[in-house]
Amino acid sequence: MSTPELKAPRPPELLSPWRTEARVALQQEARAFAREVVLPLADALDPQKGEMPRTLIDAMAEKGWFGITIPADYGGMGLGVFEYCLVSEELARAWLSVGSILARGQGLGTQTLDDDRRRALLAKSARGQWIGSIALSEPTAGSDLAGVRTRAVREGDAWVLTGTKRWAGFAQGADFIEVLARTREPKPGEPRSAGLEPFLVVKEPGRFPEGMTGTVIDKIGYHGFLTFELELDGVRVPESDRLTGLYGDEGADADAGGFASVQRGLNIARVHTAARAVGVARAALEDCTLYLQEREQFGHPIGDFQALRFALADMAAEVAQARAYWQQVAHLLDQGEPAESESAQVKLLATEMAVRVTNQAMQLHGGNGYTTERRIERYWRDARLTTIFEGTSEIQRRIISDRMLPRP
Ligand SMILES: Cc1cc2nc3c(=O)[nH]c(=O)nc-3n(C[C@H](O)[C@H](O)[C@H](O)COP(=O)(O)OP(=O)(O)OC[C@H]3O[C@@H](n4cnc5c(N)ncnc54)[C@H](O)[C@@H]3O)c2cc1C
Repeated sequence: MSTPELKAPRPPELLSPWRTEARVALQQEARAFAREVVLPLADALDPQKGEMPRTLIDAMAEKGWFGITIPADYGGMGLGVFEYCLVSEELARAWLSVGSILARGQGLGTQTLDDDRRRALLAKSARGQWIGSIALSEPTAGSDLAGVRTRAVREGDAWVLTGTKRWAGFAQGADFIEVLARTREPKPGEPRSAGLEPFLVVKEPGRFPEGMTGTVIDKIGYHGFLTFELELDGVRVPESDRLTGLYGDEGADADAGGFASVQRGLNIARVHTAARAVGVARAALEDCTLYLQEREQFGHPIGDFQALRFALADMAAEVAQARAYWQQVAHLLDQGEPAESESAQVKLLATEMAVRVTNQAMQLHGGNGYTTERRIERYWRDARLTTIFEGTSEIQRRIISDRMLPRP
């Protein structure tokens, strides 16, 4: 008896009104790259908790993807949040961390006081030669970033940073680390985030700068880059590497003054996380579509059982809904709308969806899903992070409800 041909899962198409020829071409390019280049690397490296090779980053740089949102005048692609998320969904469909590394370009670490330097750094960022690590969180400051204790003390024309940072992803491989530190205590009547400023610690890729040591945190997923706890003991940063803008409490209103651009950055990060979560959930959905046809029990492919067909249908509907919403919110941000509540809503909904869908995918795979022989367990581990990082689900709910009710 010949084996019937499996019906391949259909990757999503861009729908009206978002569909343009240029976007379809970009999506197809990212999709092919994810399938042919990223997925084999993820399969080989994730089980070893390995780091993505520099050659992968260079290949992405070659495509211009580290500068998707950087204006063309600085060598970027001059596109919007929509395109940035479009590419990220495709990359995260293969490996979450590769969807994430894209965020470490896009002009990160370029907001210097000196205009010429800022322009030069933007051009480097667009070329994928200025890839950063972000060190905001600390052992005692996560959701409540206003509790950051790392100190920045002025000494002549430099700042001296001392403290402990936790969760700095890609800190060793990066060209710079953006460190949030306290320069002074808040004055009476000021928000708790007053006095917090981001500093640029410029470094050689592959090593830590003088005064900094890093210890790898042993994560259960999100492999592809290492994540570090950093000890800063007198790291010197020139005044020219103090960045403009303030980072506030992730859960707080934009109440820190001069905060609009940072708020916009947080909103973009939220919709980007939603798109990455959709990518991971879609991977689980597509693998299930094949498995339900391959696996037989009781003399039937398990995809003949209505309970499982309906489970797959629910997964497909949830993934499509979350995708439609990230596209809507990305469009709003591209129109210059603040979209604060919407960004928190899409982050909340898409990441909670990814946890549910990857969990269901494991169930549909039975025992085989609970092994390292298949990719489902990777999707499940990676999806689990998405409700925690970039602001937990509870913090997103706080942002949303704070815009609906008076704050207690
Ligand atoms: C793998 C990984 C990678 C990361 N990468 C980075 C990075 O590159 N750079 C960086 O700076 N940080 C990074 N983070 C840190 C991440 O942003 C924090 O883990 C996250 O913000 C939550 O902070 P926390 O872990 O300290 O949890 P906590 O803030 O201690 O929260 C514990 C629990 O309390 C809840 N909670 C806290 N406050 C409230 C409240 N007001 N109301 C209701 N519930 C609340 C939380 O939702 C959570 O359920 C990373 C984290 C992980 C796990």
